[in-house]
Amino acid sequence: MKSAWAEREADAAVDHYGKTGIARDLALRVYTTRLLGRDPKLVLHGGGNTSLKTRARDLSGEETEVLCVKGTGWDMSAIEPAGMPAVRLTPLRKLRALDALSDEDMARVQRAHLIDPMTPPPSVEMLLHAFMPATFIDHTHATAVLSLIDQPNSADLCAEVYGGRLGFVPYRMPGFGLAKTAADVFDKNPKVEGLILDKHGIFTFGAEARESYERMIEMVTLAEERLQKNRKSVFASAEFPQRVAPAAQVAPILRGACSLPDDRNEGAWLRQIAEFRVSDAIMAFVNGKDVARYARAGVITPDHTIRTKNWPLIVPAPETGKLDEFAKSARKAAQSFIDHYRTYFTYNNARDGNAKTMLDPLPRVALVPGIGLFGLGPNAKDARIAADIAEAAIECITGAEAIGTFKSISEADMFDCEYWPLELFKLGARKSLPLAGQVAAITGGGGAIGAAVGRAFAAAGAEVALLDLDAAAAMGKANAIGGTAIAVRCDVTDADSVQAAFDQIVTTFGGVDIAVSNAGAAWQGRIGEVDEAVLRKSFELNFFAHQKIAQAAVKIMLAQGTGGCLLFNVSKQAVNPGANFGPYGLPKAATLFLVRQYALDYGGDGIRANAVNADRIRSGLLTDDFIKERSKARGLTEKNYMSGNLLGREVTADDVAQAFLAQALALKTTADITTVDGGNIAAALR
Ligand SMILES: [Zn+2]
Repeated sequence: MKSAWAEREADAAVDHYGKTGIARDLALRVYTTRLLGRDPKLVLHGGGNTSLKTRARDLSGEETEVLCVKGTGWDMSAIEPAGMPAVRLTPLRKLRALDALSDEDMARVQRAHLIDPMTPPPSVEMLLHAFMPATFIDHTHATAVLSLIDQPNSADLCAEVYGGRLGFVPYRMPGFGLAKTAADVFDKNPKVEGLILDKHGIFTFGAEARESYERMIEMVTLAEERLQKNRKSVFASAEFPQRVAPAAQVAPILRGACSLPDDRNEGAWLRQIAEFRVSDAIMAFVNGKDVARYARAGVITPDHTIRTKNWPLIVPAPETGKLDEFAKSARKAAQSFIDHYRTYFTYNNARDGNAKTMLDPLPRVALVPGIGLFGLGPNAKDARIAADIAEAAIECITGAEAIGTFKSISEADMFDCEYWPLELFKLGARKSLPLAGQVAAITGGGGAIGAAVGRAFAAAGAEVALLDLDAAAAMGKANAIGGTAIAVRCDVTDADSVQAAFDQIVTTFGGVDIAVSNAGAAWQGRIGEVDEAVLRKSFELNFFAHQKIAQAAVKIMLAQGTGGCLLFNVSKQAVNPGANFGPYGLPKAATLFLVRQYALDYGGDGIRANAVNADRIRSGLLTDDFIKERSKARGLTEKNYMSGNLLGREVTADDVAQAFLAQALALKTTADITTVDGGNIAAALR
């Protein structure tokens, strides 16, 4: 590992922050914190922190000695000076004399001594930083160091590699107790350049930002070099079926197995998003015949437990053509994971006076021999974090096994971290959104109505895929939604294109729960004279494409086994034909019937089918030019033309989106056609 320190960048940081009155030491502290944060082999998703001891003025103008330490929730790779809140150092140091300090009191002390009490709370490792005298302190959970210290003989290995340059602190849960133990270790040898926290990570000290940072790089490099010495081969491969099924077929089965019915609302499910990963390292790990031993040995550093739980789910290799068998064994494995988790919780919670409430018992990482791994989570962002951490764990365990035997902390220690309120705080306040954990595929996503549906569903917590023949238009709309929304090119009239689009959605999010079949176009012609080719073309898009989308979605929904929702954009033409609009109205009428057929055939599988009958919405079908032309032809203002309905109100794409959203949420409603047209009595359903 090489130092990324660049004199020019460091000077630029000093200049840049200097303009806002930030002192040189804090500017360089921010600079090197970013250097650490941008290397995933050092710092991953909140696993690390840095500090600086300096002087600052409080609101009264009085200068005092402070500890600037990374604030909880800040990403080190993008940290700013505001992410290093200053805490008065003298009162923190006095705490060392106490025998014990509860988490609640530690939080009170932090608040009481923050120079700006409105800033986010400092890292849970603040007191450890405070009890050490070094001016600059860096802390990481570097993967290579973890390979060295997640071993039964970690103390010996550290003595061999570091020769006393780093103090060795036996495992303790983060917090006051660990800070005190670390300070005691330091006092025995104040010449050390840093500390190893057994089964947890590494601290380095420096008088300057560059020194503590480059010491970190040096110590991690020493660990990397040791991992290359006397390496034994690891993970002898297990026997496999000849042909393994592709990830796109495996994901929905696995995702379904890792869901739970929601007891509070019949038909609702606690679902997760699944992110697929594969690499040579992942394959060697998941294919090993001893995978159950080394993969289930525990977390590589304690704070991972809140992201990945303590063990992954392991399922058998899925054989092509035998996916029913795979589905059975995957569900059985998931059930035994859940049972095991409940037992683990009950047992450890009793030790703690039954004070805790159980988190959901579903796996966060699934290992599939022959395929790769899936990160799971209540949304795509969390699934991605779980996958990132699972990959780091694979790298760490592979290294650990190559030089010895991977060993984690005890189950009781993992429980204490998993249910530690200060650790859970890192996950942030979780707002439970109505479509959380669900994946929605929306056709015509590049158009006005599809984009409005995408916005509404994303706001309700769904992961959204916008499908469109015009990939650039879909991309524009997906970018506007932001977050994890994706755009997928899809010709809905082409079966291969539909299949490829759904495969892409499944490998991104793990499955599909809601399909909004919205793409359409209008053709005109007097029915007795119209060219049959025109009629057939319209049927391809306005009927058969809906069938193709519904069929592809249902296949995935059945594999998941957690129900689902098909939503169709029909049209008032389906019930109230317009003159010369036969080529458009006829296939739409067939699509209205298609809704009822799906509702009938798949109600028993919990799959609902509903539709919206909309009329006169500004969109690609009803362009501004067309509106101008039609209103002029009828001698109406555009406003009066657009609101020519019983309510006298213009209907918008957002109104249609809200109707689809209501149908997606109405778990007891199927075969429903909701009219969104401002009132048109001739088009009223009867
Ligand atoms: Zn740590």
